[in-house]
Amino acid sequence: MTVYLVGAGPGDPGLMTARALELIAAADVIVYDRLIPAGALDVAREDAQLLYAGKEGGGPSVSQEEIDALLIEHGRAGRSVVRLKGGDPFVFGRGGEEAEALRAAGISFEVVPGVTAGVAAPAYAGIPVTHRDAASAVAFVTGHEDPAKPESALDWRALAAFPGTLVVYMGVRRLATIAEQLIAGGRDSAQPAAVIERGTFTRQRVVTATLGSVAASAEEQGIRAPAIAVFGEVAALRERLRWFEDRPLSGVSVAVTRARAQASGLASRLRSLGAEVVEAPAIRISPLETQLPDVRSYDLVCLTSPNGARLLLQRMTDAGLDARSLSGARIAAIGPGTAAALREHGLIADVVPERFVAEGLIEALADVPVTRALVARAAESRDVLPDALRERGAEVDVVALYETVAEPLSDAQLAALGHADYVTFTSSSTVRFLFEAIAGRVALGARLVSIGPVTSETLRAQGHEPDVEAVRHDIDGVVDALVADVAAVALG
Ligand code: SAH
Repeated sequence: MTVYLVGAGPGDPGLMTARALELIAAADVIVYDRLIPAGALDVAREDAQLLYAGKEGGGPSVSQEEIDALLIEHGRAGRSVVRLKGGDPFVFGRGGEEAEALRAAGISFEVVPGVTAGVAAPAYAGIPVTHRDAASAVAFVTGHEDPAKPESALDWRALAAFPGTLVVYMGVRRLATIAEQLIAGGRDSAQPAAVIERGTFTRQRVVTATLGSVAASAEEQGIRAPAIAVFGEVAALRERLRWFEDRPLSGVSVAVTRARAQASGLASRLRSLGAEVVEAPAIRISPLETQLPDVRSYDLVCLTSPNGARLLLQRMTDAGLDARSLSGARIAAIGPGTAAALREHGLIADVVPERFVAEGLIEALADVPVTRALVARAAESRDVLPDALRERGAEVDVVALYETVAEPLSDAQLAALGHADYVTFTSSSTVRFLFEAIAGRVALGARLVSIGPVTSETLRAQGHEPDVEAVRHDIDGVVDALVADVAAVALG
């Protein structure tokens, strides 16, 4: 029976530690705060109990005593309990108090440090909290208490004289008083200062000013919690070191419509370029129980999607066969994603066309002799490929291994779609099912990105002209086209 006091980092899901993810995935019970990264609980077990213990934000709040009691109760019951807190659990997170309560109750605990907002938010703003030339010390300060109150536990005069960077947590409303106190204590009002709102989140905002003007600037910009204030020479380094807002897709929200199981690759590439990803999986892959023909009887096996490749090999395994059963056939993959799915099973495609559409595959197969071909694919695929092979005199069997079905979208997903700057379509079925799911319930203001000509045609058939069509008809191509369009729109 262990309770883990776990830091979830400042907001960017990529800043969660490996240990945090491992414990979340194994936990029976997770007691979490409001300020945790989006998707932090996605890896939790289906049957894990998720308990919200948010204390901020106006709504009904859970008291510290109740949280302590909850941790003790579940810890005592022998469950694996993760107490998930924003940033680092021991930095202004009351983690110390929770550890004391657990120790007093005789419950064992472990602490998993997290990336604290006071270091991470400045870093994402291009502000190193220490610097050889500008600051050899840094102090983490809570701005929660009213500095004007005589009983304040903080000695603001001493802090004013502190020879280094001051990083103030929780101080948005107190910013003006804090700055006044620091100036009264002898800090130069011309000293650089910065306030970082929602640091490390895609919507991070930064205000830079001087100690004397920062409160007014923050107010003018409407800066709200959560925010961190940085006072010291290092704040000026942002001018030279900013990077977060300058990534190719910073500030751009992009909807991903492909099936949840396939979305992660595209979503993580978009995120790493700075995009805010709206997850709107409009489709789901539903395997079909179709009869698998004898795969050993073909001299050509065509796979027209990664799903098709994976499912064919899965079905072969189920039938007690392995890759050797395909040794007599040439293997054709429609594109690099499909070829990669084959490689996972030790198969290297003999034919991968330059254009990743059925027409491209037909061209690439022009000189390949075929007598008996198997086309393994989705139920709803076009017949271009089997028709062309038959025209060449081949005997062609088509096996539909799966169908693509609609995945309903929640109101929250629909609302997020309405605000997206781009919607990406990676197949015709994403087009059909997304517009079916929307059914006029939100107006898309987004630019529409299509993976290739077939998907573009489906968009047009739905009355939407694609704004961007990928030159390379795969996921990398979609990302490249999107980045180019963002740059072009910014210039234009
Ligand atoms: N344990 C946390 C701090 C909790 S106190 C940590 O180590 O980061 C909550 C305060 O942290 C907020 O009021 C705000 O000042 C700061 N904070 C937390 N996340 C933040 C973020 N993403 N950007 C800016 N400030 C943040």
